[in-house]
Amino acid sequence: MLIEVRAVEPFFKNGFVLGCGQTREAVVVDPGDEVDDLLEIVRAHDLKVQHILLTHAHLDHVTGVARAKEAFQVPVHLHRDDLPLYNGVVQQGMMFGLHVLPQPPIDRFYEPGQAIAFGNYEVRPHHTPGHCPGGVCLQVGAKGTSGKQLFVGDTLFAGSIGRTDLPGGDYATLIHSIKHVLFAFGDDAIVYPGHGPATTIGEERRTNPFLQ
Ligand SMILES: [Zn+2]
Ligand SMILES: [Zn+2]
Repeated sequence: MLIEVRAVEPFFKNGFVLGCGQTREAVVVDPGDEVDDLLEIVRAHDLKVQHILLTHAHLDHVTGVARAKEAFQVPVHLHRDDLPLYNGVVQQGMMFGLHVLPQPPIDRFYEPGQAIAFGNYEVRPHHTPGHCPGGVCLQVGAKGTSGKQLFVGDTLFAGSIGRTDLPGGDYATLIHSIKHVLFAFGDDAIVYPGHGPATTIGEERRTNPFLQ
């Protein structure tokens, strides 16, 4: 699987392009201010984007949805519990003193047990509230296998955890999501956080100071 990641100021939030090398089908995860870089990756690799997938609806993760939707004309997916945040993205921007444009409507809500396909791969959403009400972990792998690539948004970082002081955040809920949803995956599962470098479930289980 092709995995490309880009991040730009001011939030240095990771936006991802995941592609199937055989069929060239792809998904875009969390298009934000780096969306032009993601569009360029899609062009350079001659990919056909099938879905726009959001881990949650904080503004840094959604400011590129309009550009991506315009370019690809594909469904935008979000957990329904983050719809108020998504619809309030302009107000989120005001909290940071930023002028943010409204984004296009959400097309589909994640459902438990659902598999979203691109080429020979599939994405399984897992609800991981705590950082915000509708945060999800997107589990990605070859069709019919137990995917070991986890796109966790701002729930878990290398050596840290997501903040819970924003509206809808809750510390105990976040810890529960990490310990019961993310830590249910094997130590070899690779974690791609919304900010900063990739890590593994095993590394965080052993060394993350917030989870000992
Ligand atoms: Zn966030
Ligand atoms: Zn973020």
